[in-house]
Amino acid sequence: MKKGKYAFGVDLGGTSVKLGFFTSEGELIRKWEIPTDRTDDCVNVIPDIARSLRGEMEKEEIREDDLIGIGMGVPGPVQPDGYVEVCVNLHWHDLYPARQLSDLMGGVPVELGNDANVAALGEAWKGGGEGAEDAVMVTLGTGVGGGVIHHGKIVAGRHGLGGEIGHIHVRDGEPEQCNCGGYGCLEQVASATGIVREAKRMMQKSTEPSGMREYGDQISCRTICDLGKSGDALADETIETVARYLGLAVSTIALTVDPDVFIIGGGVSRAGDYLLDKIRKYYDSFTPISKNRGRVVLASLGNDAGIYGAVKMVL
Ligand SMILES: [Zn+2]
Repeated sequence: MKKGKYAFGVDLGGTSVKLGFFTSEGELIRKWEIPTDRTDDCVNVIPDIARSLRGEMEKEEIREDDLIGIGMGVPGPVQPDGYVEVCVNLHWHDLYPARQLSDLMGGVPVELGNDANVAALGEAWKGGGEGAEDAVMVTLGTGVGGGVIHHGKIVAGRHGLGGEIGHIHVRDGEPEQCNCGGYGCLEQVASATGIVREAKRMMQKSTEPSGMREYGDQISCRTICDLGKSGDALADETIETVARYLGLAVSTIALTVDPDVFIIGGGVSRAGDYLLDKIRKYYDSFTPISKNRGRVVLASLGNDAGIYGAVKMVL
C-alpha cells in the first residue's frame, strides 16, 4: 500500500488543462479546468498547474505528505525516462515536465504519459473497459489515436510508437498522403476528416441520389452518420467502408495482443451501435479463428478519460 490518501490527475491539452482530485481508491472528489497559457511557448503551463494544485490542497487542508502522487498526460510522445523531445502543440522542446512539476510540488512523485495512452488507461479502468487489465482504445476524432493497456499499464513501446493505431496501413492504392507521410493509413479513412473525404468520393463515383448531396462540400461526419442510420444508401455505404477498415485493424490487433476489450472513443463514436455493429461484423469476418476474443465497446468517460488515466498511473 502506497503512502498518502489522495492523488491528482492532470490532462494537459492545447487549450485547457483538466485537473482532478482523487482518493487513493480512485474516487473523483473534484474536477476543474484552467486555461493553457500559450504565451512564451507555454513556459508558464507547468507553474500554473502547480499553483492550481497547491490551491486545491489548501482548500482541502492537505499537505504534500498526504499525496500519493500526480499523474499527467501531455499531447506528445513521452520517452520512458519522462523526456519530452518535442510537443508540437505546446511548442515544447527538450523538457522533463514531470521533474519540473515534482520540483514545484516539493518532491511529490509525478508520472507522465502521452495523452492518448493516458485516456486509454482511464477508459480501461473506469470507463468502457470496466476494470479491464488488457485493453486497446481506438479514438476516432479529427485524427485516429489509440492506446494499448497491458496488465493495467500503458504500453508506450520502446520508441513511443505503441498505440499509434491511426497510422497502421490498411488500404492499398490510396493516392493521397497521410500527415505521417504514408499512404493508406487507418486515420485517412476512419477519422472524422477521413469519413468526410470518403463520402465525397462516394458521391463522385456514383450518380445514386443521396441526402448527402444537399450538403455538397459542407457535409459533416455527423450528418453522414445520421443519414446512414436513417437508411440513406450512399451514406450507409460510406460508413460500411469505414467500418471495414476499422474491423481489419481491430482484427489485426486482436491477433497481436489479444486484449479483453476494444474501446472505441472520440467524436465519431457518437454514431454508437450503428457504427459498432458494422465494426463487429468485419472484425468477425476477419477473425474466424475463434469467437473467444476481445469485445468491442464504446468509451464512456468522454473528456474525463484523461484525468482518470493520469491518476491511475500513480495509484
Ligand atoms: Zn499515417
